[in-house]
Amino acid sequence: MKLKLEKHMYFKGKEARIISRALNDVIKEFGRRTRVKKFKKIRIYITKNPVQVCKKIVMPKVKLSRHGEMREWICENASSFSYWDKGLTPTIMMDANERIFQELNYPAIQGLFAHELMHLLNKLDGIEDELEYEAERAATNMFRLLEKEIKPFTIDKLLSSLIRITTSSLLFIKDIFANTRAMSFGFDDELYANYKVTLSDVKKEIKFTDGYIIKTLKNGRMHALDDAFTVYLGLNISWVAFKMFHNKMYYYLQDMARIKLPNVIKKQCKPIIKEMLKLRSASDKKQIAKILRLTQQNYFNVVKHYSKKIK
Ligand SMILES: [Zn+2]
Repeated sequence: MKLKLEKHMYFKGKEARIISRALNDVIKEFGRRTRVKKFKKIRIYITKNPVQVCKKIVMPKVKLSRHGEMREWICENASSFSYWDKGLTPTIMMDANERIFQELNYPAIQGLFAHELMHLLNKLDGIEDELEYEAERAATNMFRLLEKEIKPFTIDKLLSSLIRITTSSLLFIKDIFANTRAMSFGFDDELYANYKVTLSDVKKEIKFTDGYIIKTLKNGRMHALDDAFTVYLGLNISWVAFKMFHNKMYYYLQDMARIKLPNVIKKQCKPIIKEMLKLRSASDKKQIAKILRLTQQNYFNVVKHYSKKIK
């Protein structure tokens, strides 16, 4: 039986036809290499209004462990999001504001779609549930770190930052597994095309200087530190699967992701990426727990560093 794609697109006419063809091609290719008998239908939204689509299908049911992903999606930091719960139609949402749609970048659209499709497959196989379970367990480590206040960061602020850091780290692990699965189906070039667009301007657009971070923290806004930490990790997740597959293109992505960032943050992020490169399967619970704990600890080291600087 053929998998049905129910499309809800912001685009019309010729644009809609091209995008539609890109999506159908992925399904066709995908169907040739794997038997996705379990899905009968997938719903796709290509929308300019992530909040509205989310409100309609996700909000009432979403699990706490997925708040990180949902936040990134509705704040338009993430270009896509997928959702599936038993008894519901699996749904993929993509942001129509993304450059790949404006430019009708055929392989990049395919890459993004393939990535989300693999998230759905990983959900179907229970892989993402296992990861979410590990993240819940890693919460105990968070409270160990929170035993005392690190002025001027209050316990309250530290807790919300640690939750954000942990859910982001979980999202990155899920992304790596989505990408390795997509690459095992041969979608290397399409994934690369999508990341190439995503990363092409980041060096110009994203700069975190020590001065900016200190100023923002002095104003009582802790998000500067969380942003710098998660943005750097997030950008670098793009090349992890490529390196795992010994695909030389990883080198170009790595170079594009090299944004301006204080050394102390880079130094704390690098060991996390190194551990992520060792991820082989979602059943490797020890490695997953190690990564989540390391993310929390190293973020905490960054906090300690800046707390001394802004005293
Ligand atoms: Zn993803």
